[in-house]
Amino acid sequence: MNEKEKSVIIEPTGDGTVAVGPIDNLLNMARKHSLWYLLFGTACCAIELMQTGGPRTDTDRFGMVFRSTPRQADVMLLAGTITYKMASRIRLLYEQMADYKYVIAMGSCANTGGLFQRSYSVVKGGDLFLPVDVYIPGCPPRPESLLEGLMLIQQKIEREPWLKKAWGKFEASPADPWAKKEKDALE
Ligand code: SF4
Repeated sequence: MNEKEKSVIIEPTGDGTVAVGPIDNLLNMARKHSLWYLLFGTACCAIELMQTGGPRTDTDRFGMVFRSTPRQADVMLLAGTITYKMASRIRLLYEQMADYKYVIAMGSCANTGGLFQRSYSVVKGGDLFLPVDVYIPGCPPRPESLLEGLMLIQQKIEREPWLKKAWGKFEASPADPWAKKEKDALE
């Protein structure tokens, strides 16, 4: 349990359980432990994605489960080679996801086009058409790497200042690229 989670006190009472703490931390605690990802892949990295949900890595214990519809998903995983033909479909799926949403580029192909980089039909990286939050290297990355990427998204969620965002008082630190990205998205 980290400092932000420690600031939330959960006590059983006669009428049920009460949680007391800063509202940002309460919201973020719930959000980071219910990170649902869209089960969608475009090439061989998707096999590793499937394996990540299996018993060895077991993402369920982090509250990460797959959804089959973008409308219930928080995370878009770019798992595999992306052709120009598929890029518009992936963009459509991303736009169907509710805010706030996150993108992980999984593997060399999703990061840069990988070994198909010089092909006429392959997109040279998912960040050319989606705002990628986390890049995972490898061909393919192991399930442990993907799990680490998902945990980085959890760390990002932990730092999101909901009340400041709601009041328009969000100040991004220049040293924090994620925070800057959030600020740019709000403007
Ligand atoms: S990075 Fe490697 S394993 Fe992943 S989609 Fe590309 S070729 Fe396949």
